[in-house]
Amino acid sequence: MDVDVILLGPPGAGKGTQAQRLVDAHGMRQLSTGDMLRAAVKAGTPVGVAAKAVMDRGELVSDEIVSALIGEELDALAPGQGAIFDGYPRTAAQAETLDRILADRQRTLAHVIELEVNEDALVERICGRYTCATCGKGYHDKYEQPKVPGTCDKCGGHEFKRRPDDNEDTVRTRMTEYRAKTAPILPIYEARGIVARVDGMADIEHVTAAIERIIAS
Ligand code: AMP
Repeated sequence: MDVDVILLGPPGAGKGTQAQRLVDAHGMRQLSTGDMLRAAVKAGTPVGVAAKAVMDRGELVSDEIVSALIGEELDALAPGQGAIFDGYPRTAAQAETLDRILADRQRTLAHVIELEVNEDALVERICGRYTCATCGKGYHDKYEQPKVPGTCDKCGGHEFKRRPDDNEDTVRTRMTEYRAKTAPILPIYEARGIVARVDGMADIEHVTAAIERIIAS
């Protein structure tokens, strides 16, 4: 699928889960600035060192840092491969930069898909989530446990991890950042007629089906 789409929604809305499904179904590439930053923190790069404390507080890392990461990843796409922007752009400045980055590469944004969710339910969703340390498959204490306890369904791994910023205080800050800085970028895309809304509280399969209909349109 050679379209570029943005998945927009507060933390825990399901952007990462849905992006992964588009990757599996269509060979698109998930470009998650959160994942890129976590990799930089783990590797101890200068970007990671600068970003860690900001991420632990749930605040936003500088526009320059994330935009540079996105540019590099776009250049690594295969010809004709579509990108799913997950967690980027998060500010009006990032949205402007993304326009420039895409135009420089003769790419256009086909859809901005907003996952609409009830924020109170999200805290529970986020605070219970964890992933396989080997393949990254997502799980949840209450909603999706591995079929065999302690063994990843996808790769058979036995180690799991939780994000340090998935605690209630940090989640509340991340929500506030979303409301203050990210939600206000929607009108930019609404003016272009490319925003579609999906009920992010529906079950995972329904959300995927709705997104599939949008990107096929
Ligand atoms: P996420 O995995 O998208 O929830 O992002 C985790 C954290 O990484 C955020 O709370 C921010 O501190 C940082 N981050 C991720 N993407 C961005 C972005 N586009 N702009 C600024 N900070 C970001």
